[in-house]
Amino acid sequence: RQQLVVTSWERSRIRDKPTFGKRTSLPISQQRMDLPVYSMRSTLVEAVKANQFLVIVGETGSGKTTQITQYLNEEGLGRKGIIGCTQPRRVAAISVAKRVSEEFGCDVGDEVGYTVRFDDRTSRRTQIKYMTDGMLQREALLDPLMSRYSVIMLDEAHERTVATDILFALLKEAAKKRPDLRVIVTSATLDSDKFSKYFNDCPVIHIPGKTFPVEVLYADTPQMDYIEATLDCVMDIHINNDSGDILVFLTGQEEIDTCCEILYERVKTLGDAIGELIILPIYSALPSEVQSKIFEPTPEGSRKVVFATNIAETSITIDGIYYVIDPGFSKVNIYNPRAGMEQLVVQPISRAQANQRKGRAGRTGPGRCYRLYTESAFFNEMAANTVPEIQRQNLSNTILMLKAMGINDLLNFDFMDPPPKNMMVSALSELFNLEALDTKGYLTKLGQRMSQFPMDPTLARVLLSSVTNECSEEITTIIAMLSVQSIFYRPKDKQQEADRRKARFHHPYGDHLTLLNVYTQWENAGSNDQFCDLNFLQGRHLKKARDVKKQILTIVHQLRLPVTSCRGDVDIVRKTLVTGFFMNAAKRDAQEGYKTVMGGTAVGIHPSSALYGKAYEYVIYNSLVLTSREFMSQVTCIEPEWLLECAPHFYKAVDANSASRKRMKIAPLYDMYSKSQNSWRLSSKRNAKEK
Ligand code: ADP
Ligand code: MG
Repeated sequence: RQQLVVTSWERSRIRDKPTFGKRTSLPISQQRMDLPVYSMRSTLVEAVKANQFLVIVGETGSGKTTQITQYLNEEGLGRKGIIGCTQPRRVAAISVAKRVSEEFGCDVGDEVGYTVRFDDRTSRRTQIKYMTDGMLQREALLDPLMSRYSVIMLDEAHERTVATDILFALLKEAAKKRPDLRVIVTSATLDSDKFSKYFNDCPVIHIPGKTFPVEVLYADTPQMDYIEATLDCVMDIHINNDSGDILVFLTGQEEIDTCCEILYERVKTLGDAIGELIILPIYSALPSEVQSKIFEPTPEGSRKVVFATNIAETSITIDGIYYVIDPGFSKVNIYNPRAGMEQLVVQPISRAQANQRKGRAGRTGPGRCYRLYTESAFFNEMAANTVPEIQRQNLSNTILMLKAMGINDLLNFDFMDPPPKNMMVSALSELFNLEALDTKGYLTKLGQRMSQFPMDPTLARVLLSSVTNECSEEITTIIAMLSVQSIFYRPKDKQQEADRRKARFHHPYGDHLTLLNVYTQWENAGSNDQFCDLNFLQGRHLKKARDVKKQILTIVHQLRLPVTSCRGDVDIVRKTLVTGFFMNAAKRDAQEGYKTVMGGTAVGIHPSSALYGKAYEYVIYNSLVLTSREFMSQVTCIEPEWLLECAPHFYKAVDANSASRKRMKIAPLYDMYSKSQNSWRLSSKRNAKEK
């Protein structure tokens, strides 16, 4: 790794040096009254009563999320129906619900609760409910009028997640039919005009923020290695600056863990002359006990540094931050409709995001923001605003849900910013190929069933096939295992031992069966911790998988579908996987390792796969990850004829008479993105209107 040290900082406009007040812990009621939103209480309450739609703009940390729901509840709106508040991130929903129940004086799940996917902590008593926007979108499927709610607050609307964007339209529609329903849209940034215009020119309320000036320092030259630059910057602040906590924005869990480890080693070498540096990570996969550590006040004489994903940009507020380090990147999910796949890509952030990050340093007093990029990059290279997710993500899940709600005319759906047509078409193709839609673009019976499972349509399809193929016991386990974070633990100092242990679970046919192996053996061992420690498994993630499995089975039972085991018939499990993942097939290629059957992209088997280094003719994969090259992750080998058998509408044999069946060549029936194949799908909207 190239070492490039930040040597000097270009000073910019604001120049007041940070000064630091003493931190005290006030009683909760006092803390509530100190928030900027408190002075606006009656204005807000009256505005909600008088208007069906309301846009609220305020600095992060002003108290929007935790207070407004409580104000409305105190005014009695919670008695007419639940006061719901959506969050783009599950961690934020959980963390805020915990805080508010504390302020309210109840247990989580009583008057204040939360619902996130596979985790519902609400009860009949619940009046204030935090949830992910995805959950509310799911609820809309069964109850488009949102009849259980009196108020819905779409929080963090500036994030423009797909689910929030869809909810904009659904709630606008529901409000027409329910004059008593109140919809609040809150945003941290100033795109309020756009929101207001969309919601029939509704009023906008600004919450005056209590913010201090933040001095911005830019790097002199572009940084080759932002991790190294970040670590240098943290060390520099810690050694040379007055007290005050540091917040660092990184792109993901792996990066954050690495940084914490390296920094820990470096700080150890400092000795006692310099105060203690408390190093804390925050990302969504962390257990909530660890997460809540970041909220604990820093002891006198020491300093805290929090390494966070963009979760700390707006949805979580940490008090006492005086320094922000912003390397200028974040990880975003981008769907590539031509390749037909979604990729997590590290990208430069937008100027709006950069300013949001900067603002985090000015909450408790004047602060300082170190931008690890040049001022010219900020003004000339960064985009002004972040592109809404709906314009860059795979929409198959969303479209399936809209179709299930009877919304067929997608071209005239009231999107705030419509997704590009080619992305809608590719999502529709995917659903058609999964047989969730018919040739006219209407939902099939199978599609209707699929929409009832809160998972990727591909997985829902596999699950439903497993019922017919009598292996639903095994498939629900595999799906649950795929939906949690990696269960294999690989500590830096014991990698080889961990790998050896992992290899013992490897199934010769691949990763899906390996996951099944691990889960089954863990359960047979009584789900105990020793088994996990011995085998380098993440017990927490396994338990999570068990919960997820339970939730999936609940839905399966509700639909009165049988749960059966195939008793070790691995072929039927693999074949069932093919019914959903047939579009993710790859064939061995002498030059490239593997090439995807659809599209012919060169791909490799990920080194962490059980099939790494093996050479099967045909494989299917769960997803593609882009690191040094395109890798298939979660790979299972298959028989080529299964592709024909499971997806005759999608594949044809090119040389059916080939001597060896194993080497049979399979190709997609159509060029996926050719005009002729697409015409029927867009015309289906015309049909929808004629109807
Ligand atoms: P906003 O939604 O306007 O960004 P919040 O309502 O989330 O603001 O936060 C208001 C204040 O509540 C924060 O400044 C912080 O002091 C406090 N707070 C929020 N969540 C927690 C938590 N989980 N633990 C402790 N304090 C919290
Ligand atoms: Mg908030």
